[in-house]
Amino acid sequence: MRFDVILVGAGIGGLTAALALQQQRVRVAICEQAGEPFAGGAGLVIGASGTRVLEQLGLREVLDDLAVRPAHLAIRHFQNGRLLAETTPDSAARVQIGRADLQRALLAAVQSNDRECLHPGHALADIGQDAGGVSALFAGRQMLRGSLLVACDGLRSAIRMRLFGDEQPRFTGYQLWQGLVPMSHLAPAAPGLGDADTWIGPGQQLGCRRIGRGSQLAWLALARSNRWSEEDWQKPSGIDSVLAAFRNFDTLARTVLMATPREQSLTRGIFLREPLPAWTQGRVALLGDAAHPLAPFIDQATDLALEDAFVLARAIAAAGTTPEALQRYAAARIPRASASMVAAEEQGVRLTTLNPDTHVAGATHDSHYDPVTVPV
Ligand SMILES: Cc1cc2nc3c(=O)[nH]c(=O)nc-3n(C[C@H](O)[C@H](O)[C@H](O)COP(=O)(O)OP(=O)(O)OC[C@H]3O[C@@H](n4cnc5c(N)ncnc54)[C@H](O)[C@@H]3O)c2cc1C
Repeated sequence: MRFDVILVGAGIGGLTAALALQQQRVRVAICEQAGEPFAGGAGLVIGASGTRVLEQLGLREVLDDLAVRPAHLAIRHFQNGRLLAETTPDSAARVQIGRADLQRALLAAVQSNDRECLHPGHALADIGQDAGGVSALFAGRQMLRGSLLVACDGLRSAIRMRLFGDEQPRFTGYQLWQGLVPMSHLAPAAPGLGDADTWIGPGQQLGCRRIGRGSQLAWLALARSNRWSEEDWQKPSGIDSVLAAFRNFDTLARTVLMATPREQSLTRGIFLREPLPAWTQGRVALLGDAAHPLAPFIDQATDLALEDAFVLARAIAAAGTTPEALQRYAAARIPRASASMVAAEEQGVRLTTLNPDTHVAGATHDSHYDPVTVPV
């Protein structure tokens, strides 16, 4: 079968790119290795630029319905929960949403445009390119052909490795845990818990975000660790190791961790990679975490994927040829995403020696970047 664009990976970046391309009347195939249903994960934080993309793609009502727009962002002392800083974000500048909720909403929108565009159970095995197009071969030997292939296959992108080499990511010495807790498991045991609380200490941080119309709490914990653990989004970990690592933390923070169902928590090592100088090769382009895997010291991975998706669709609409479209896309996106990778690494270094008693609130996002109007 022949398509205009083959998207590999039906995560947040792949589905958003599909929707943005459909808006430009481009025929897409979205190939996902997992079988259905595949929506998963805990919570995502989306800033002003990502929100703008979702609104442009007609998902404003989904955000109004399912996301939480926190009234306050509270920073607390790790040992005693003392409030160190409180900011009031603009309601458009920060939304918190369940990854599965957003993935399902994107999928419904994409399939309402084209019922046949999703190909679950398609794990990419090989790519071939020639003057006429690009071929994607999947495990199980199905083959699709298109004018362009976009790798949206996430943090450990096999396509990035194939095109740009088998890099050796650097272990940061940090471990990440994350979990999802039904609020019914917490209330009334957690009075004083807001929509967005973060406890900070030297080399340790725990962020709690309400999602799912406020019915769930997604948390993400980072701590220095000598233990190397694999970089994987899928492995349930239980809570023993995170409770041990956060044994000095405030009672309220530990209450959240203890309320987490075993199957709703996971852990992985945090690794750093260097920004790539190029994201495209011939008729293949990288997008989202595949292009710029971001260490989770800043909450920007989802914004960057949403921005990439929208800018790619704009570049394809503006350009006369596939090479020109990819050149416009890469030129518009590489500097911004590379700067975020460096900022994330710097934030990880800062966390190592952080003193909560001298904490000063600072912004990590450039809230002025607009993927809808940025020159392409
Ligand atoms: C299961 C899962 C849970 C996550 N949970 C969270 C979370 O709770 N909080 C958070 O901040 N971030 C989470 N993330 C990461 C987050 O979604 C991304 O950082 C961000 O949204 C950018 O999205 P992306 O589309 O680039 O990558 P992703 O959202 O990671 O999507 C990549 C997709 O590509 C698919 N894929 C990979 N290899 C192949 C292949 N060879 N062939 C076909 N398909 C392939 C994967 O199955 C996945 O669906 C999670 C990612 C995954 C995959």
